[in-house]
Amino acid sequence: MEKAIDNPVRHRREAMKMMAMGSAAGLFGLFGGNSLRSEEREKPNYARGMAPVKIRNVKAIATCPEGINLIVVKVETTEPGLYGLGCATFTQRAAVVVTAINSYLNEFAVGKDVDNIEDMWNSFYVSSYWRNGPVLNNVISGLDEALWDIKGKRANMPVYQLLGGKSRFAVDCYEHASGTTPEAVAESCQKYMDQGFRHVRIQQGGYGGTGLVQQPDFKKAGYGYENDSYMNERVYLKSVPKMFDTVRKRCGEDVELLHDIHERIQPMDAINMIKGLEQYRPYFIEDPFSPENQEWFKQLRATTSVPIAMGELFNNINEFKLPMVNQWFDFIRVHVSQIGGITPAMKISRLGEYFNIRTAFHGPGDVSPVGHAAHAHIDLAVWNFGIQEAVHFSDKLKTIFSGCPKMDNGYMYVNEVPGLGVDVNEKEALKYPITTKSNWQVRKGDGTIIRP
Ligand code: MG
Repeated sequence: MEKAIDNPVRHRREAMKMMAMGSAAGLFGLFGGNSLRSEEREKPNYARGMAPVKIRNVKAIATCPEGINLIVVKVETTEPGLYGLGCATFTQRAAVVVTAINSYLNEFAVGKDVDNIEDMWNSFYVSSYWRNGPVLNNVISGLDEALWDIKGKRANMPVYQLLGGKSRFAVDCYEHASGTTPEAVAESCQKYMDQGFRHVRIQQGGYGGTGLVQQPDFKKAGYGYENDSYMNERVYLKSVPKMFDTVRKRCGEDVELLHDIHERIQPMDAINMIKGLEQYRPYFIEDPFSPENQEWFKQLRATTSVPIAMGELFNNINEFKLPMVNQWFDFIRVHVSQIGGITPAMKISRLGEYFNIRTAFHGPGDVSPVGHAAHAHIDLAVWNFGIQEAVHFSDKLKTIFSGCPKMDNGYMYVNEVPGLGVDVNEKEALKYPITTKSNWQVRKGDGTIIRP
């Protein structure tokens, strides 16, 4: 019988056939000889190569250990022991996401190949016809990140390797300094600088200075709901420059200062305030306008050169396109699970590379450790990384999620475990059921709702 090695054409044809069949073992036989074949047999099934693996089951794992609903999608496969995890946390409407995962995503995904993430993303994206809502985008994120996790496990590599490898040794992060007075904010800022942080976000009171003023008239009048917050725009606008001035004087010029407006003031007020902050050299000012007010960016950019971070409230991957190609902001402030996971976040990040727009992914407490790990893997890989929000996991959270990213000297590190590197203890997760109480209204003095 003719040997494949004696006939190059046949050799290639056989190789193509084996690749098409997904037979890595066959390829090793052709190119590697029998010794490799025996080594391959000793590896776990999922690390042997590209043999087709199907989705066997998809389910939501919902937990609320620290009073914040967290949702993770678990994608189980036909390969024994091989599964992936992805963050689908939309904390304010968690029960709806759980239903969408268990009812619709499961039905969509079971029986499909785990390999083709891009195709799976696009298929599920249009499978409901109407799309780009926060519930279904989080569901897609859970699937997408879980599939990247699975691909990493099959390749025996951390996900950042599949995204291009490391562009830096670790992920530089910023901390949150806060206090009710400028002096208290400066003290808090210094504390983080002493821990090694080079970047600190400074906020006086809650977002928009909530909690700094007396009980508002709407509550005295019995208007609104019991837990509504109150914000006085005029108090806030006057407090921010004073806070920057105090922190700069007390903490020096070396620290990079950030601040989040949280979209809660009138666009022209935001523009004037940011212009006034130029002298304090902010690293960036975050979320100056609500998503309803994007056209104000032209005026903002014409008025001041202070760097801007934007995008936390964008649901739709397409919302990033125009502001980015017009260079209306400098930092991509995306909530990764909100736009559908690693796949779209990589597209936005790469687009930013063309326009010198850097990443600054939203990393609050309502992202699961799986989601934080996904951020860090992208942060490590993309060239135009800017900064990441620091994260600290409680002991309770770490009993549920093992392998969480770690902080050291202001940097975040992921472990080198294949995939995203985070696992979940489902039994522990079940001890903390999610709640449906999560409403975030903020009002003006007369009771008018403020749009964040
Ligand atoms: Mg924000």
